Amino acid sequence: MDSLLRHMVDMTGHRDHTMLDISVVSAVQELSGAAQTRVLTLATVCGQTFVRSRACIRAGGVACPEEPADGTSPGEPISAFPALAQCLEQHAARADAVGADGLHRLWLPIWFGDTADTCLEIVHQEPFTAEAIHTIGGIVGVYRNFQNLLDYSERDSLTGLLNRKTFDDQLARMLQASDTEPLVPGRPERRHHQGQEQQWLAVVDVDHFKGVNDRFGHLYGDEVLILIANLLQSSFRAQDRVFRFGGEEFVVLLRSTTLENAWRIIDRFRTNVEAHEFPQVGRVTVSVGFTSVSAADSPVVTLGHADQALYYAKANGRNRACHYEELVAHGLLRTIATNDTAEFF
Ligand code: GH3
Ligand code: MG
Ligand code: MG
Repeated sequence: MDSLLRHMVDMTGHRDHTMLDISVVSAVQELSGAAQTRVLTLATVCGQTFVRSRACIRAGGVACPEEPADGTSPGEPISAFPALAQCLEQHAARADAVGADGLHRLWLPIWFGDTADTCLEIVHQEPFTAEAIHTIGGIVGVYRNFQNLLDYSERDSLTGLLNRKTFDDQLARMLQASDTEPLVPGRPERRHHQGQEQQWLAVVDVDHFKGVNDRFGHLYGDEVLILIANLLQSSFRAQDRVFRFGGEEFVVLLRSTTLENAWRIIDRFRTNVEAHEFPQVGRVTVSVGFTSVSAADSPVVTLGHADQALYYAKANGRNRACHYEELVAHGLLRTIATNDTAEFF
């Protein structure tokens, strides 16, 4: 019991999904004497469900987060997990199966209403006893509640998008991951090739939004924000992250894509908004400024670049997207050097 309590304290001490995943697999692994425990992401891409491991611990090992190598792979198709597929179809609490390797596998989807996008998988040499299933079920209950609480603190209450606080954490992570090679003083900054995959940050601002509030009232304004949040989520890819930054401003982090693709995805969103018929309000447009994310720049500088491209879009007709580096290359935005960073106007 002591060990169970210790794990509960550990699990509920985190304010981060990755650490929560690590502590839940550690707890389940130790308390059930499993051969392997994983947290799986159940992602739906084009109507198909894929299974991807996001945290794993093996007997005698330590728990580790697992990221797909290229950051884009959706994972294994659900058809590779027939027992789990049936369990999800029936909205059941758990599924088990014995594999060709003779190992026993137990899956426990984490249900929130009608959807489960997370699932625990426990692999054991022996069949699971009723007591083991009972203990694991209790841990999963705490994990589910705590995940719900974390989710709530990370999201904006109007649109359900990730909030500003979450953005700060995620951009810092993306900056760390985007370039681990240290910059050598005196050596020019590494240049990316035109077709190379990079991370991108886009700032989206609704055009003349004050006019929507003034003409139709705040409630219709809120409705427009909710619909734009939905268009953001349907226009960007599953691996991108969409945030409500405040007011009528949104930020998107686009992972691992070329400049050409970033343009295509951003313009697809912009034209989706342009073509949308907003109830009562009619036509609404957005302007977008985007920039590449590089470890050489701080979050403040990166955001500043995207903002400058956005202001350029606003000053040059609105309902358009502008790419910061391109504006600088064409002499449309000027740069000056300060003591420690290059700042651009
Ligand atoms: P621009 O094209 O230059 O961006 O013009 P704009 O009118 O969109 O820009 P401005 O910054 O002047 O106005 C933003 C407005 O957004 C003002 C504010 O009342 C409104 N707003 C901010 N947050 C919310 C919200 O949560 N709900 C609603 N309905 N309106 C909001
Ligand atoms: Mg605006
Ligand atoms: Mg604004």
